[in-house]
Amino acid sequence: MAKRIIETYSPEETFALGERLGSTARPGQIYTLIGDLGVGKTVFTQGLAKGLGVKEAVNSPTFTIVQVYEDGRLPFYHFDVYRIGDVEEMEEIGYEDYFYGDGVCLIEWANLIEELLPSDAIRITIEKDLEHGFDYRRILMEE
Ligand code: ADP
Ligand code: MG
Repeated sequence: MAKRIIETYSPEETFALGERLGSTARPGQIYTLIGDLGVGKTVFTQGLAKGLGVKEAVNSPTFTIVQVYEDGRLPFYHFDVYRIGDVEEMEEIGYEDYFYGDGVCLIEWANLIEELLPSDAIRITIEKDLEHGFDYRRILMEE
């Protein structure tokens, strides 16, 4: 498993990292995002969507577990499982069609559904470190 640490110093940099990954993402790729509230998961996601060519505005799906964007280079499935009570809810929405389909999945708060994650998912953890400033983020990528 390859590990890589990327440091960013602004939301724009985190967005640009997501955009780079989105521009090369392949069908069936799954990105998992772990990190506290306000760390930049959605900023990263918006960059990834842009890289995929999604034009629609991407925000955290508040009332649904998954939001589907069809207007990019590949279908984009944006999950935010923060409010999930039980992994049963993933079964109910038919998550396997998304995880094992031809689109690109990104899952915010993926640690809450750890047992469902395929082993080839790209795992991204974002952390703050206030010693390096308010806008500093350390981004660990494991693939
Ligand atoms: P999350 O989805 O993890 O809860 P958001 O992406 O919604 O977090 O919000 C992250 C917030 O942190 C935004 O207000 C963003 O402007 C700010 N921010 C400051 N520095 C960074 C950085 N380096 N990377 C990403 N976001 C940052
Ligand atoms: Mg978010």
